[in-house]
Order: sequence, then C-alpha cells, then structure tokens
Amino acid sequence: MGQLGSALLHGGIVLTVDAENRVFEDGWIVIEAGRITGVGPAQTCPKAANYDESFDLSGHLVLPGLINAHTHSAMVLFRGRSEGQSLLTMDGWYNSIREPELSLKASDIGPAVALSCAEMALSGTTTFCDQYFFADEIAAAAAESGLRAVIAYGIVQLGDEARGAEELARAGAFIERQRSGDGRIVPWFGPHAPYVDNSEALLRAEVALAQKYGVGMHLHMAAGPEDNEQTERLYGLTATAALERDGFFSGRVHAAHCLDLSDNDIAIFARSPAASVAYCATAGLRSGRQGICPAVKLREQGVVVALGTDNVAANNSYDMIAEMRVAGLVASHRERKAQPLSSHDLLRMATIDGARALGLDHETGSLELGKAADIIAVDLTGPGYSETPDPETLLIYSGSGRDVRHSWVAGTQIVRDRQLQQQDYVAIRNTYSETYARFWDRVARAKKVA
Ligand SMILES: [Zn+2]
Repeated sequence: MGQLGSALLHGGIVLTVDAENRVFEDGWIVIEAGRITGVGPAQTCPKAANYDESFDLSGHLVLPGLINAHTHSAMVLFRGRSEGQSLLTMDGWYNSIREPELSLKASDIGPAVALSCAEMALSGTTTFCDQYFFADEIAAAAAESGLRAVIAYGIVQLGDEARGAEELARAGAFIERQRSGDGRIVPWFGPHAPYVDNSEALLRAEVALAQKYGVGMHLHMAAGPEDNEQTERLYGLTATAALERDGFFSGRVHAAHCLDLSDNDIAIFARSPAASVAYCATAGLRSGRQGICPAVKLREQGVVVALGTDNVAANNSYDMIAEMRVAGLVASHRERKAQPLSSHDLLRMATIDGARALGLDHETGSLELGKAADIIAVDLTGPGYSETPDPETLLIYSGSGRDVRHSWVAGTQIVRDRQLQQQDYVAIRNTYSETYARFWDRVARAKKVA
C-alpha cells in the first residue's frame, strides 16, 4: 500500500494504548492517507470493499509501533566486541570500543545504520532515538529505511576546545539541514556524557543552541560511575544537579540510563517541564554496574520513563519485546516486589511514553484517530502462545520481536509477512558484511601501525 492508499486491518486483538487503555478483542483500524481514521470493536467494523487493501489479522495482536528510546545504530559494527567489558564505565568503553571507533569512516555508517534499521523494523520498532557521530549519514539511512527517528548529533570535546567549537557549529548546521525534511527525521543535540568528555562552557553553549533551534537534547546521564564522580569533585553536585544548574532541564531533555540517581536527582526530573529517562535494562544489567535505574520511583513522581536497547554491543539485540521483558524483570528484582511495573506499564513505556519522551506523542505512540498510522501486528498463532485473559502479559513475557508480521509507519507498510517492503534485506545484509570486513581490516592495520 502506498502512502496515500487506504487499508482496513480487522480481526485482531487491538491494544490502543490510548488514555483509557481501550482493548478491542476483535477490533479494527482504518488507515487513510497515512493516518488512523477509524478504530473500534467488531460490531462497528466497516466493509473491506471500501478500502484499497484489507488485512485479516485474526490470531494477531495489533498495537502501536514500538519506540526504542535510546540506541547508537552505527555501533552494530561492534556487536559481540565488548564481551567481558562493562560498556557503562569509561574503562570498559575505552578497552573495547574507543580505539576501533577511531577507524570509523563516514562511508561505514550508512550500511551499518541500514542493517540496524532493518532489524528494528522487522522486530516491531517504528521509531528510534539515536545518538552518535556522523549524524548526517545516520539521518540519511534512517530516512531511507522508512522508520521514524530522532537523531541527536553526538558531541565529544575530549579536552580540545577548538574541536568543541567546531562540533557545535557542525551540530547547528545539521539541525538546519534536517529540519527541512518531512518531519519523520527529527534532529536533536546529543552531548555524549556531559563533563566526562565535554566542558561546562561547551555544555552551556549547547543548551543555548538547543533553545535557539527549539530542539531536544539526548545524552547519557548517571550512566557510568565517572559521571557523578566528576561533577562531585568539580562542583560538589551530582551530574543531574550540575546539568540542571547549566540549564539542561529548562527545555526538552531525554537522559539515557540514569543508574545512579539520588532522591534529589529524581525530584529535578519531576519538576522539569520536559525531562524524561530512557531506561536501558539489558545494557545496564549486562554492564555489571551496581546501580539500577529507579524506573518505578521515577514513574511514581510523574517522570516519563521510556525504554531503550542501547547499542547492540551492549545489548546484542534491537528486540523491544525482549527489552520490555528485561525491564520488567529488573524492576521486580530492584524493588524486591512482584512486577512493580505491570505488563501494561511496560507496554506504555515502549509506546506512548517513548513518544512523550521524544516530543512525538501528538503523532505516534497510540492507536487514536488522527495520529500517524504507526502500527504493528504480532502473530500469536505459533508455539509459545496460548489462551490467556491478558494479551499484554502474553506479548511481553511469552513474545518475541521475531513474531512481528506486519509493520506500518505513517501508513506505509514497511514490513509485510515478515519481509521488508521498502528495502531489500539481502542487499542490506550483503553490503553490511562487506563494510564490516573492510572496517575491521582497517582497525587491524591501524593497530599494526601503532
Ligand atoms: Zn548509549
């Protein structure tokens, strides 16, 4: 179906994730001109003949496309390259990623991001939030994939003032360029790990620029122990409090990880107009860090908590259904309580709360009239699924991204019968393999020279 066509999806269990959390056991949705123009129960289902296409989704769960609120899609090149290293400490990152990262070229990025986008699309993600270097290349590959994305221009200064100023100018130019798009790609700023690799002056300049352009900031916060250590030493403040002092919390700020938040840090998030957290449970757990994101407490205080996979060197997968499961398990373990995050909470975190975190809830995150048709259908007819009164728990604790059968972004079908529609997966995979071989060969040669 083209972007301007129409379609009727019927027969599935529709989880709207709207404000009343309406669930239609045998529901339907109409897509017209890229938007949701109807949704309801079987008895009000319109005639299939009125639409260009119709999909019988009996045996399927139909829900809003999933939102991966934190990743670095180019880092698929490092998948499986950080075993035994904690990617949430500076040490672990330097030991496994930083050196090969210096050999990255702009031409490596497109093929890597294309593969990541394909994996995300095939496992039910329709929107992702990315932060890395080579933002233009990421944006181009994301646009081509058909996914919706927030791309934060990653800034690291690493003690080099001239480099900081240069990067800031480049980041501004990136925002200018990408703003002219169709709105599916949203440019932001992304200081990597504040204070660890950016100076206070640069951070303040970034805040001023984000305000000037009216864009959000996506960054790592209280992710590694160094974040708080550094700001405590310099200012006697936690990283969160130091960032509040520097103006970060006056606009939209979306912080990844947040493993070591004090009660005062949580209060800062709660009193800020547009602050949110990307809880990356798998990456946090795998890092071996003692801290665990206080997702339950943050939500109790009214803070928007979204879910993210982080990069696939830290996670190894973009499967957001698996990520919901781990997020729930980790919260149960942290709070010493049975499911303090219910399956419904987890589903909201991976859909509408992700959209709220990214400032996109007017457009995506729930199945409601007028929103963009960002929709997935998950096939529940295979092994592992059986009758249950609770389809949300079935999805999260029995489900897998591999069971996503169809996916639409803004009404364009990007996955049909488990196959990419807008792009050729085999071609993407082959180009990626060549890129991967070239990249690691370059890394090996750089090592020999050094
Ligand atoms: Zn990250």
